[in-house]
Amino acid sequence: MMILTDSHAHVDGPEFDGDRADVLARARAAGVQRIVVIGAVGEPSSAERAVALAERDADVFATIATHPHDASKMTDAWWAVHERLAPHPRVVAIGETGLDFYYDHSERGAQADAFRRFIAMARKVGKPVVCHVRDAHVEARAILAEGGAAEVGGVIHCFTGTPEDAAAYVAMGFHVSFSGIVTYKNAQPIRDAVRRVPLDRILIETDCPYLAPVPMRGRRNEPAFVVHTAEVVAREAGIPVAELAAATVANTARIFRFPAQAS
Ligand SMILES: [Zn+2]
Ligand SMILES: [Zn+2]
Repeated sequence: MMILTDSHAHVDGPEFDGDRADVLARARAAGVQRIVVIGAVGEPSSAERAVALAERDADVFATIATHPHDASKMTDAWWAVHERLAPHPRVVAIGETGLDFYYDHSERGAQADAFRRFIAMARKVGKPVVCHVRDAHVEARAILAEGGAAEVGGVIHCFTGTPEDAAAYVAMGFHVSFSGIVTYKNAQPIRDAVRRVPLDRILIETDCPYLAPVPMRGRRNEPAFVVHTAEVVAREAGIPVAELAAATVANTARIFRFPAQAS
């Protein structure tokens, strides 16, 4: 069976409270052996839940931060939770953090301040940064460069920029992760970006429960569905899906420094 990794999943969220064990079992049955749970939605209880999931399951890894949507709500107490969890051995990255100038749910200055502070935290603990960037690629690259984020590396997750943006992140040393959006009919620029990312820098993700790939579009997304994204990314890269799957499993393990797998 083809083995895959879902590099970005929000399975800590309430959407999965009714059937989380089934969702994780379906992922395994579909070959999605490892899952990175992003504990960053809303209050830092999301980070706590992600870490708890990773503590219980050797194939689940956690990241911690506060999403740019919620940056303006951050308090000293929120920062204290993240500072406490950042060095945790099951926390493989700091994120998702970044800039979302499409939704502008938080004031842009607050998003930028939080992004800078999370980059500094990532450097302090020596872990990569998971970046959420929408309609703010020039600004995000400036902050990543100023903050020296390339020293710890990182992933531009759920990539929605232009092919030129993808190439610019690659030139800076970052990885680029494609979500189910790459399967959508109107997403040709994102499909075009695939060829601008070398095979050893590509990751795939579900970003579940959102953005289910075609043919699951419209349903609640879950890690088992990442295979559909793998198929489209492989087609755009011009390689067999098995080769894309193996590369993305290896890339995810390398950037997040997963422990070697017992075989
Ligand atoms: Zn995101
Ligand atoms: Zn996300």
